[in-house]
Amino acid sequence: MVSRVIPVEPFDLVIFGGTGDLARRKILPGLFRRFVAGQIEPEARIIGAARSELDDAGYRAFVGEAIADFGGNETRQKKKLKSFLDMLGYVTVDAKGDTGWEELAERVTDDRIRAFYFSVGPGLFGDLAKRLHKHGMADAQSRIVVEKPFGRDLESARDLNRGLAQHFDESQIYRIDHYLGKETVQNLMAVRFGNMLFEPLWNSQYVDHIQITVAETVGVGDRGGYYDKSGAMRDMVQNHMMQLLCLIAMEPPAKFDPDAVRDEKLKVIRALDPVEKDDLVRGQYEGDGTQPGYRNQVENRDSTTESFVALKLHISNWRWAGTPFYLRTGKRLRERASEIAVVFKDTPHSIFGPEAGNHRNILTIKLQPNEGIELGVTIKEPGPGGMRLVDVPLDMTFAEALGPEEADFPDAYERLIMDVIRGNQTLFMRGDEVEAAWAWTDPIIAGWQDRGDVPLAYTSGSSGPDDALMLMHRDGRRWREIKA
Ligand code: NAP
Repeated sequence: MVSRVIPVEPFDLVIFGGTGDLARRKILPGLFRRFVAGQIEPEARIIGAARSELDDAGYRAFVGEAIADFGGNETRQKKKLKSFLDMLGYVTVDAKGDTGWEELAERVTDDRIRAFYFSVGPGLFGDLAKRLHKHGMADAQSRIVVEKPFGRDLESARDLNRGLAQHFDESQIYRIDHYLGKETVQNLMAVRFGNMLFEPLWNSQYVDHIQITVAETVGVGDRGGYYDKSGAMRDMVQNHMMQLLCLIAMEPPAKFDPDAVRDEKLKVIRALDPVEKDDLVRGQYEGDGTQPGYRNQVENRDSTTESFVALKLHISNWRWAGTPFYLRTGKRLRERASEIAVVFKDTPHSIFGPEAGNHRNILTIKLQPNEGIELGVTIKEPGPGGMRLVDVPLDMTFAEALGPEEADFPDAYERLIMDVIRGNQTLFMRGDEVEAAWAWTDPIIAGWQDRGDVPLAYTSGSSGPDDALMLMHRDGRRWREIKA
């Protein structure tokens, strides 16, 4: 099979924060790969904007280095790299002052799609929106892309939404959650709504429980300053994991269109019960002799910020009442692995007797490191000796099922930026969704703050605090092993 790449119309893309870490590691190398794939035409224009004093040539050199470091195999295409760098420009702009805005307005074109990527801290979102408007760049041709974190609670998220809404319509605002750009996450919708096989079973009558795990091996590293003010609940659960939960639990939208999908996601968030304190475990990693512990990597040596959280959720609606959802995420865990596991119930009666053991179907949607979907089915163990049952995976790892070329799909950022240019908001969070997610998260955080809870220590390289295991054990269930 040959990939079908449809080029997008030539566009102008301004990256505020064009000299920052995200631009260097993800946005610019991603754009280059889309250019090599033929999706971006040479007439497109990409303009970096930040306070640093650079000219076009200086920025091209900066981007060339970024691509050499993070561009992947495409870096070898020297001619393409030169053409790509020719499309780049740079304007020195201060989000909080007047520097550079006139020049920027002159550089972007009126009759094209103009996308403004806010790859800066959220404290600058309002300023950027205001100045884009003031300098005539907030018209119908314009779109803005905003990065996470989108607020740190309901109030701040509302403030951000209000600040953007003063100058841009909701249809022009693309709130990015790169988890939604992952191939498997979209495949989750294809599997659910493109097959007859799963949807009839996708409810509390047949599903025992659902587990969502996002495990990292790294610690906070040099992001300690940011992370310590955030923690796993704000950094992971409120956004990425909530989005995964929505896609797994939502009702079938009437069509695959942005508002139809986002309406259904919103209903899931609004149906979430408050979380009881006994259904929540917070942890903080300790050093292991070779690597420092959490408190040695942040300024506050008495920090009570969690680097791990596990929780049990209930969705109060007809489909899911009675089926718990278990979420866990953490840093410095045994393996880097993200997956969703839909664990089906036991068969109502085993005709093979107790010696056949317990067997369950588990549908696993793997997000990283290898994207793919695996369905565990029970079959007879081959050979003589009676009816022994064994669970085997029907593995649909994309690279194996589709061939390495087809499975070489764009990185989440590449896909999402192309969606911005095409004007497709399906994989972006709507303002009301983000606010609903904070409205559910805030009381959980307020609860542990009021109680003065201290996170439980866990060993680096483990699967988190023992209490997280108990969260499942006491329900007669267990977490799946964290493995890559
Ligand atoms: P960063 O490395 O600190 O870069 C910030 C960028 O903003 C720089 O280019 C900086 O350049 C520019 N900037 C700062 N103040 C400015 C001002 N007043 N006017 C114009 N430009 C200004 O941050 P980052 O890691 O790239 O992150 C950017 C955003 O993405 C943040 O909201 C972050 O939370 C989010 N994010 C980052 C990652 C990641 O992997 N890095 C992942 C997810 C989300 P000058 O100093 O030259 O102005």
